[in-house]
Amino acid sequence: MDKTKQPRVIVIAGPSGVGKGTVIKALKKLRTFRISVSHTTRNIRPGETEDISYHFVTREQFRGLVDEGVMLETTIYEGNYYGTSRTAVEDVLAQGQDVVLDIEVEGAKNVRRVYPDAIEFFLLPPSLAELEQRLRDRNSGEDEQTIQGRLARAREEIACAPEFDYIVVNGTVKQTAAVIDACIKTHFLRAKERAPLVDRLLDGETITL
Ligand code: 5GP
Repeated sequence: MDKTKQPRVIVIAGPSGVGKGTVIKALKKLRTFRISVSHTTRNIRPGETEDISYHFVTREQFRGLVDEGVMLETTIYEGNYYGTSRTAVEDVLAQGQDVVLDIEVEGAKNVRRVYPDAIEFFLLPPSLAELEQRLRDRNSGEDEQTIQGRLARAREEIACAPEFDYIVVNGTVKQTAAVIDACIKTHFLRAKERAPLVDRLLDGETITL
């Protein structure tokens, strides 16, 4: 690893159903990072695991965490609270690893305030029809009203995509993960990221790509 590279917060945002979780899993095969586990008050879905998918908490517990200043950012989504704890991010960075956050747009904006050097991606679906299909195929037992709510919110979120560093269309998962990996690599090549490397060269060190 490049000694001059600081561990970074990487945000993967995008509308519900766009495939953020699957893309993050595919990205895991390409680079080393840890995934921030959020807190939520929504019900656990089939196939999800407590403390791996989310920390599932009651509304009272969630409000308690907010009052104690535990949370880095929170949002309300489809009537449920979601949030990232400070430690979910800080502990990973302190261990020298990148941390990936799967969050919605409002959360991404708040993370940007605390971590201005976060690398933020927005995933777009190939079409709105495809997004609706993916939401229905997910078979998470959600009723029509919830799905319609997610679709309405998706349109609002998509309108915020230009605020992000990179927009990637999630056509095929493997390709999307490869593009994200390439973007992160290129991001670290930007001159403003490489000032320490220049100093090392001038100090007489031999440097590499
Ligand atoms: P789902 O219920 O589908 O797991 O998540 C709904 C939305 O909440 C998704 O867009 C997901 O990225 C977002 N989300 C999950 N955890 C967090 C979080 O900790 N903070 C924020 N702001 N959004 C979250």
